[in-house]
Amino acid sequence: MRLGIDIGGSKIAAALIDESGSIIQQIRRPSDRSADSKQFISLLFETVNTLCPKRSQISFCGVGYPGSISGQGHIISSPNLPMLIGLPLKNELEKLLSVAVAVDNDANCAALAELKFGALQNAGQAILLTLGTGIGGGIICNGELYRGVSGTAGEVGHMIIHPNGRPCSCGNKGCWEKYASAKALTALLRKQAMADPNSILWQIACGNIKNIGAHCTEAALKKDDQAAVIALEEYLEELSTGISNLCCLFDPQIIAIGGGLSALYPYFAQKLQTLVKQKVYSGDAWQGKLIKARFGNNAGLIGAAFLS
Ligand SMILES: [Zn+2]
Repeated sequence: MRLGIDIGGSKIAAALIDESGSIIQQIRRPSDRSADSKQFISLLFETVNTLCPKRSQISFCGVGYPGSISGQGHIISSPNLPMLIGLPLKNELEKLLSVAVAVDNDANCAALAELKFGALQNAGQAILLTLGTGIGGGIICNGELYRGVSGTAGEVGHMIIHPNGRPCSCGNKGCWEKYASAKALTALLRKQAMADPNSILWQIACGNIKNIGAHCTEAALKKDDQAAVIALEEYLEELSTGISNLCCLFDPQIIAIGGGLSALYPYFAQKLQTLVKQKVYSGDAWQGKLIKARFGNNAGLIGAAFLS
């Protein structure tokens, strides 16, 4: 049995996973942003203990982390959990769990899950995008995960698409994820709701604009709400710009859309495909396709368990 751990900015998930990639048992806990690295490791250990008190059945433990990881399993960058920068996560967990541990970026783990068992199976050149609070990316090159020289390849959310644009948590301005993440969609929905008091979105807000989030999009689109339609169109302009840049760079066979926003995929698939075709350098010559990823929010957990 394999153990997969997915660390997020606000939660920790751990699961026992069999050799076919199926989740046998899973546990989710809120993570603690105020914890120091020692307390964080204790929280991880407790979570694993609750899931699986008899660790002798675990053959390997993989961890997906929302940041950049060195080849030795040290945390290099960590925008959501900055207190963990420098933590030798692999070594610490190996000491505690007495099992081989590997750590990688969470989007890389998600791409690995899709490559082994999901939407990217048998793909030589492919990209997984995770559209959530930010944008993560995992790049498959010649059938393998491409990590780059320092392990930070695939940080596509931080490609700058608007020079001197919105400030990003990474310290730069104009990063793609500031325009095409779920947070960015939320901002567009709120803007359109405020501009149209007769909209379904405004009704959903019930007088408080903060009630509107990306999760409201589907309900509004189902009722053909024009405010939601316009917000989604603006969002897709930004999303397609980044994707077409990736197509110019990698000419992939498949780009799979994962993460929380992939739930909206049926509503935007066709429009996104059209926009990408318009913007990509090779236009109709680009033979690749956009598809929805298979594992949604469980992809990081499953892929982590197969890092080795
Ligand atoms: Zn950035």
